[in-house]
Amino acid sequence: MGGRTLKRVPLDFKWPVGERWWGYMGYFFPAKCPACDGEGLNPATKQISDDYYDFDRKGTQWQHNITQDEADALWEVGRLTYDFKEKPTAAQVNEWSHHGMGHDCCNRWTLIKTRAKRLGVYGECEYCNGEEGIFGDAEHKRLYLEWCEKSVDPPEGPGFQVWETTSEGSPVSPVFATPEELADWCEGNVSIFGTSTFISKAEWLDFVKSYEETGDPSAIEIGSTLVVKPSTGFIGPIAIEPKE
Ligand SMILES: [Zn+2]
Repeated sequence: MGGRTLKRVPLDFKWPVGERWWGYMGYFFPAKCPACDGEGLNPATKQISDDYYDFDRKGTQWQHNITQDEADALWEVGRLTYDFKEKPTAAQVNEWSHHGMGHDCCNRWTLIKTRAKRLGVYGECEYCNGEEGIFGDAEHKRLYLEWCEKSVDPPEGPGFQVWETTSEGSPVSPVFATPEELADWCEGNVSIFGTSTFISKAEWLDFVKSYEETGDPSAIEIGSTLVVKPSTGFIGPIAIEPKE
């Protein structure tokens, strides 16, 4: 599943925004599975996944309406300990997710799995065996896995840049020298997916600084919580409920 991530790159890094990084290009990508739309989930689990954000606005969104067993599942895997000192109620978590940065993609996945299992429907896509893509044959898969190990990351440096990881990886923001500058840019250029709601600089700064404190890129692996509008360069965490 795709997402967005922050990378530290040289300040004079010139790879064009929107262009897939050469080190991530490959001729061995599998085709997207037509049965599960590349999510690797069975139809019932995919429905739960689709309903989580409810992009089609069918009124089925549940990201801010989780149940106690789902809140417990998050707590058990240590996902809420940063924001709660003791195990929260579902109502507390829903209040928190509604008014803050909300659940990231790790939380989302835990929630979907917990709900699907409780309903007794959890399972992988039978067509692609949960691989999300379709390989032509065993040789294709072997070449792909071999190539994955060889993919080359961009050079590291002091600059801050947001990348998308949905199409294997390309920059989506300019390179900035400081988190403040990146947050500044995001505030003016980033809206929540499908809306014209903007994210405040403070929220962006929180996000970037969590990476700086931990030094762990996965700490800011924002996954599918960010969506890019390539036409305008807009990116935004869709985990935040639009306040319309
Ligand atoms: Zn599939």
